[in-house]
Amino acid sequence: MSKLPNIGTSIFTIMSKMAAEHDAINLSQGFPNFPVDTVLTDIVARLAKENVHQYLPMAGYPPLLSNIALLVKKSYYRIILPENEILVTAGATQGIFTTIQALVQANDEVVILDPSYDCYEVPILLCNAKPVRVSLNDDYTPNWNTIENACSAKTRMIIINNPHNPTGKILTQSDFEALESILDKYPDIIVLSDEVYEYITFEEKHISAHTRSKLFNRCVMVSSFGKSFHVTGWKIGYLVAPEHLMKEIKKVHQFMVFSVNSLCQVAISEYLDVVSVDGIAKLYQEKRDYFRELLATSRFKLLPCEGTYFQVASYEAISSENDIDFCKKLITEYGVAAIPISTFYENGKDLHLIRFCFAKDNATLEKAAQRLCKI
Ligand code: PMP
Ligand code: GLN
Repeated sequence: MSKLPNIGTSIFTIMSKMAAEHDAINLSQGFPNFPVDTVLTDIVARLAKENVHQYLPMAGYPPLLSNIALLVKKSYYRIILPENEILVTAGATQGIFTTIQALVQANDEVVILDPSYDCYEVPILLCNAKPVRVSLNDDYTPNWNTIENACSAKTRMIIINNPHNPTGKILTQSDFEALESILDKYPDIIVLSDEVYEYITFEEKHISAHTRSKLFNRCVMVSSFGKSFHVTGWKIGYLVAPEHLMKEIKKVHQFMVFSVNSLCQVAISEYLDVVSVDGIAKLYQEKRDYFRELLATSRFKLLPCEGTYFQVASYEAISSENDIDFCKKLITEYGVAAIPISTFYENGKDLHLIRFCFAKDNATLEKAAQRLCKI
């Protein structure tokens, strides 16, 4: 008997595979197609010949832990303890899985906000806990009344994703105030704050859980170097959590992976010695603006994008098909792959919206836009 009878293949796998089969421009799964900084690849080339190929300490390469603490301090003025409050993980995905396995018990409830990224539900189900999916408002702001109504003595965790995949929405100070007032009423709830796009926000600055002192003792923050340094295939990220939660998370981590890829950890640590994260937002803001400009004459209606490298578009003026069929047709007839937004909802709510990834070189964006403008 399947433990996960209702879970199929991820939409990112399906669409990327279909894009490859039809030689379509792949704006579906989120990954950059431009070259990685040669400073980073030079570090890797040098390290490959050095003695960095054996197990590292379970929680992470100590200089990397210190550099993460420094990065958090520089970015958010928060002091965290490298040895007790940070864990390097095999991507944010493993960090999220491990956190949920460690902290959620059978019959607990976990609040997830729809539309929602796909990696939260399965670890909850595998704990025999219950995902409680609450819809965001039509403009993708959280409806804190509905969220509060979904909370009860059974609720163990609320998962927030900020900046938000797929909508590009970011949370405001008043969102955090509303969240904190729910937490005041439910002292056992902890927050899992998925901030993998923390360095990719545009007009408005990202507000991290790291800046909310009320959350420090009851929040696990997750980030991904895959996003910040354009190396999604390296699968390297990290968690920041207070020691009492981290102790539990490490118990699971040590038997899930024990420790993460040594070469990547050392490389990222050395890279952090010499680069800053300051340019990332500008790079992607230019890409967002360029992509939007290229699509200005198309029949797609572009929704606002405050952060991430995803642009949501309505195809209502083009077709009344459901979004999955529309995305398939987009690949087979027009040679561009995108992600149907209905797949981010529990009930497959279809608003005729699709998601494009604009983390691509300009030539790719231009070629894709040329095709999209012809529809
Ligand atoms: N959370 C969100 C919101 C994401 O978009 C992604 C996509 N990669 C992840 C987590 C997983 O990140 P990683 O590739 O580092 O596992
Ligand atoms: N986070 C990526 C996206 O949203 C997908 C990563 C994956 O395929 N697991 O496109």
